[in-house]
Amino acid sequence: MTKYFLLKYLKSCSQLISAKPAQLLFVLGITTIFIACAPKNDTAASDEQEVAEQEVAEQEVAEQEVYEWKMVTSWPKNFPGLGIGANNLGALIEEMSGGRIKVTVYGAGELVGPFEVFDAVSRGTAELGHSAAYYWSGKNQAVQFFSSVPFGLTAQEMNGWLYYGGGMELWQKIYGKYNLIPLAAGNAGVQMGGWFNKEINSLEDLKGIKMRIPGLGGKVLNKAGGIAVSLPGGELFAALQSGAIDATEWVGPYNDLAFGFYKVAKYYYYPGWHEPGTTLEGMINKDAFEALPADLQSIVLNAAKVINQDMLADFTAANNRALNILVQDHQVELRRYPQEVINELARITNEVLETTAAEDPEFKEVYDSFNKFRVEAIKWHSVSELPYLEMREKAFK
Ligand code: CA
Repeated sequence: MTKYFLLKYLKSCSQLISAKPAQLLFVLGITTIFIACAPKNDTAASDEQEVAEQEVAEQEVAEQEVYEWKMVTSWPKNFPGLGIGANNLGALIEEMSGGRIKVTVYGAGELVGPFEVFDAVSRGTAELGHSAAYYWSGKNQAVQFFSSVPFGLTAQEMNGWLYYGGGMELWQKIYGKYNLIPLAAGNAGVQMGGWFNKEINSLEDLKGIKMRIPGLGGKVLNKAGGIAVSLPGGELFAALQSGAIDATEWVGPYNDLAFGFYKVAKYYYYPGWHEPGTTLEGMINKDAFEALPADLQSIVLNAAKVINQDMLADFTAANNRALNILVQDHQVELRRYPQEVINELARITNEVLETTAAEDPEFKEVYDSFNKFRVEAIKWHSVSELPYLEMREKAFK
């Protein structure tokens, strides 16, 4: 259409050169009427333009829309490390989105209970959750691999498996069945073995002991003769103080100092054989995620990646400081698990993993992927991380 008018215009111009003012006005008037009355023709080009304009308009609406999201968590509000990590995730999403996603973070029990996070996000009561996957082993045993399993992967190895070893795809497949999108959103590093009021010198000493220890670690303790209890963090101090439990693990010096366990338990055992590098999870309600424009989806996914790294950095620095305070200011007695006890717990762990895999095909699928990665990681780290840490320690003794 534009070409047609251009030709007409050029042709008219050649005639106008010799035209009188009255004729000139007449030609201009006719041309104007012709342009104004020209049908908005239905050619493909016009349709395409309309579609493009509509898309731009929709994009503009999506860019102006503000999404009000709720995040429910399994942690006491503002709790060091875990709760702060959840706060940071919400704040970073808001900042990176330029305020287009606003996130209100709820501590455990404020909107839903600490162990109701999964269901709340699944059904859309909240759009986001921050928790740990092993809390949901009652729904699906396979999910425990996405937090931590006894004698499993370190933080560095977990990230390798999740991002570049097939772990995240398996996690997405399983959570997808519950209308959820999972995110790795923090890591606590190697945890501590737990707080006891008696020494653990042999497997016999674990018999009859009532200990708070979640997930597969709890199953292993049961097989070793102990009694595993699952309690949220916020209830642990009172339970240990009243004698409702004999022992507890929680996280590590940073978080354990905050709960004050040193006031009610004497021995602090290491290492956390049951949780060698626990990944904390973010979870998004799938419908809420799919309602976002593509740039905001990317922002949410990448904010979680930032927090995944940031939380580990926070834990590393804060654990260093908190361990000194526990030992020097509070006279906590550190104890290393005897190798004989660790060997037995490792043997039982393998039995539990193999038995569960034989009964549960989904567990087996994740276990196979996880285990393949672990075998390779053991080989690589036996010539990298492990000898380096050993050599450094000996060199500075
Ligand atoms: Ca723990």
